[in-house]
Amino acid sequence: MSERAAPFYCPYCGDEDLRPSEAGHGAWECAACNRAFGLKFLGLLARGPRHDVGGDGI
Ligand SMILES: [Zn+2]
Repeated sequence: MSERAAPFYCPYCGDEDLRPSEAGHGAWECAACNRAFGLKFLGLLARGPRHDVGGDGI
């Protein structure tokens, strides 16, 4: 699996015209609204993955 998280849509204007920024790892630029933003993986949630299994024991 890739270490990179690639956004599909700009979080500010919703456009898809995104390209990696040279500002650094996880930095992206939106050509539509001219914004630069960063994605950062913060870690896993303490509650763990969601289990969709019913109450059929552990
Ligand atoms: Zn945008």
